[in-house]
Amino acid sequence: MAYWPAVRPAIKDEFTDLPISRQRKYQLRMQRDGRCPICGKPKIRGRFCLEHWVQNKELIRKRLGCKRRYQGAPSYQFEAKAKAAARRKRNKSAK
Ligand SMILES: [Zn+2]
Repeated sequence: MAYWPAVRPAIKDEFTDLPISRQRKYQLRMQRDGRCPICGKPKIRGRFCLEHWVQNKELIRKRLGCKRRYQGAPSYQFEAKAKAAARRKRNKSAK
């Protein structure tokens, strides 16, 4: 006995009938809804969430063979903010 339908009803939207793969439809839906196309978390700036923004940056750095870092880059600032917020949260829950 099933408590919920085993197959979800198909999503009916502007991407349903396009001649593209399911993967691409998922990416376009995520883009439309302002979410990261890789993990579905809310995006911060550009296309990705913070985690995948940093991942993408490191990938491109590796590809280009970068030796130096631009420390004032927005992704570093967002990363520092996220780390500080996580630290605050951790300290609060410890007490
Ligand atoms: Zn992501």
